[in-house]
Amino acid sequence: MSLVAPAQHADRILAGDERAVDPAALLTLLSGELDVWDTMAAADRVRRARFGRHVHLCSIINAKEGGCPEDCGFCSQSRHYSTHVAPSKFTPVSTVVEHSARARTRHATALGLVTATRGLDDDGKGLAHIESAIRAVREAGHTEAHASVGFLSEAALDRLVDAGLTELNHNLETGRSYFAKIVTTHTYDERIETIRRAKAKGLRTCVGGIFGMGEAPSDRVELAEALRELDVDEVPLNFLVGIEGTPLAGAEPLPPLEMLRIIAAYRLFLPRQNIFIAAGRTYLGQLLPLMFSAGASGMMIGDFLTTPNRGPEDDLRMLEELGLSPYGCGTAHPERIELAPRPRTRLPVVA
Ligand code: SF4
Repeated sequence: MSLVAPAQHADRILAGDERAVDPAALLTLLSGELDVWDTMAAADRVRRARFGRHVHLCSIINAKEGGCPEDCGFCSQSRHYSTHVAPSKFTPVSTVVEHSARARTRHATALGLVTATRGLDDDGKGLAHIESAIRAVREAGHTEAHASVGFLSEAALDRLVDAGLTELNHNLETGRSYFAKIVTTHTYDERIETIRRAKAKGLRTCVGGIFGMGEAPSDRVELAEALRELDVDEVPLNFLVGIEGTPLAGAEPLPPLEMLRIIAAYRLFLPRQNIFIAAGRTYLGQLLPLMFSAGASGMMIGDFLTTPNRGPEDDLRMLEELGLSPYGCGTAHPERIELAPRPRTRLPVVA
């Protein structure tokens, strides 16, 4: 294992070597062999050089809840498990637009439309509905419309892009070796194929995973390597919330310092990507604001799909007190950006 100090990794990254941390060094960073505070300090230097005081905020809406035919072991929406989530119809377009307006008041610049589906068939009602919803969000102009709708053919992607889709989310969930222990109804390669297809259409891609599912540090390295190889734009890091009724219900949440170690190690391995923290971030407890010191450049604001989040007022107040300000997705990924002045007034939240 490489034992290069985290500060040296940061030096090399800031000198222009984006791949200064190789997989072996990432494994060392993740393994607990190095002091987590040193890793965080290095990650924070990289974050500040790249993103300054800017933080990316996005929101999501469940555009079709529950009843999913896939068997992802962490998911409350799989029809393979008996959970608190009941299958729903597609969310009306007007409701999606309302959520987009609400997301904007919370300084989110994108609303992700999420469906609990294997994918959207080219000739199905689901694709037509999501197409309409994306078009309506775009025309309303509150936020960008992103989507997380499972597998999509080229033809389906074309329709969504024409409607105004700017970014596709399709998480890899974990490393390739561990994936089959979590999901058996589709393969890692099917997921990668959809991400590649979206990139070929010119879409930005949002691809991340979930930690705390029993994976080893080497599985976390595999996931990071896949993200680097795919050259994705945004990386959502989720921490398992063990939902009653799913196979992973009994899993203990990761300790907060372990969560911060993962965030910091990913920042050093993926210095250019927007790394944002989504589900399970409240397990950071009192250490929540330290996710930015650990290298996170964004967070999901507002409720998650089937679990509540902290109130957006608390999140916006936290940003204000940290001297951080929201930025627009896809607009602030220069090599280096100017530090934004601290907001003078409290960020307003409109109910
Ligand atoms: S494909 Fe998505 S909605 Fe379906 S079970 Fe897996 S994570 Fe849940």
